[in-house]
Amino acid sequence: MIPQQFDYVAPQTLQEALSLIENGERKILAGGMSLIPLMKFRLAQPAEIVDLGRIPGLNTITESDGVIKIGAMATHYAVESSPIIRGHLPLLAETADHIGDVQIRNMGTIGGSIAHADPAADYPAALCALEAQIHLVSAHSDRTVEASDFFQDAFTTAMEPGEIVLEVSIPAEPSNEGSRYEKHEHPASGFAVVGVAARIRKSGDKITMARIGVTGMGTHGFRDRAAERLLEGGASIADAAAVVGAGQEPNSDLYATGDFRLHLARVHAARAIASALSRAL
Ligand SMILES: Cc1cc2nc3c(=O)[nH]c(=O)nc-3n(C[C@H](O)[C@H](O)[C@H](O)COP(=O)(O)OP(=O)(O)OC[C@H]3O[C@@H](n4cnc5c(N)ncnc54)[C@H](O)[C@@H]3O)c2cc1C
Repeated sequence: MIPQQFDYVAPQTLQEALSLIENGERKILAGGMSLIPLMKFRLAQPAEIVDLGRIPGLNTITESDGVIKIGAMATHYAVESSPIIRGHLPLLAETADHIGDVQIRNMGTIGGSIAHADPAADYPAALCALEAQIHLVSAHSDRTVEASDFFQDAFTTAMEPGEIVLEVSIPAEPSNEGSRYEKHEHPASGFAVVGVAARIRKSGDKITMARIGVTGMGTHGFRDRAAERLLEGGASIADAAAVVGAGQEPNSDLYATGDFRLHLARVHAARAIASALSRAL
């Protein structure tokens, strides 16, 4: 289908972009991998779109004092292939590698993906497990929100009208930590029917730290603190994986019922935890 007519503006500075979207009526364009299909189906009909693609410096990836900052316009390919991310955040590089196909990874951006907040997107699991901070700015505000508070419902985040995702900040994974992203991929779209990200640190045979992020199972990505507590308290991987998703309302669709999704989340949690543990030093 052909989208409804719209105006297009490509600001050269962040301040210009923020003042254009100040009243919340214009729509940001990043990689266009979600917005353009929605416009073609006329599920989104913005009168004007504001392209962030001409603003210098929004796609940088830097490391300073053990914190990695990823600009919102960094593509999935940049996240997957950046030596900084591969070296300091292997879990995120592994997760980006699971997104869609090479065309999607070359165009789609981390900021666009998390702002869109598709329940089946891959990043939320890793960003919740990595305790990422999402940096939001508007013409009049500047704040950070923890990833586990940012994702609030299907296609709904903590962003207020007029705000954009500027960057994502993540503490580096220590070199003795093991991590793993496990995904049951939808055979047609490649999206996560369920995806589980696990980070594990250990001392001898004992797990000293566990972080578990889940996507695809419910309306939004979340951190499974009950499973984390069980692992840190000495429970077996099977016992911890068996509580993943408890209390969540699993999605149900033509591909997977809610019960099957919950089962998949627990199977993939057990695999992700075991694999992360085997990678921990
Ligand atoms: C065939 C196909 C397969 C896919 N498979 C997967 C998959 O396996 N896993 C996965 O995770 N994703 C998948 N995707 C989605 C893909 O990752 C998109 O790139 C992503 O969801 C949107 O990023 P974008 O940069 O293209 O954003 P856009 O499409 O440009 O924007 C998406 C939304 O976010 C808003 N937005 C964009 N940037 C910002 C910002 N910085 N601040 C505030 N709002 C912003 C826009 O206004 C719009 O509402 C797939 C998409 C397609 C078409």
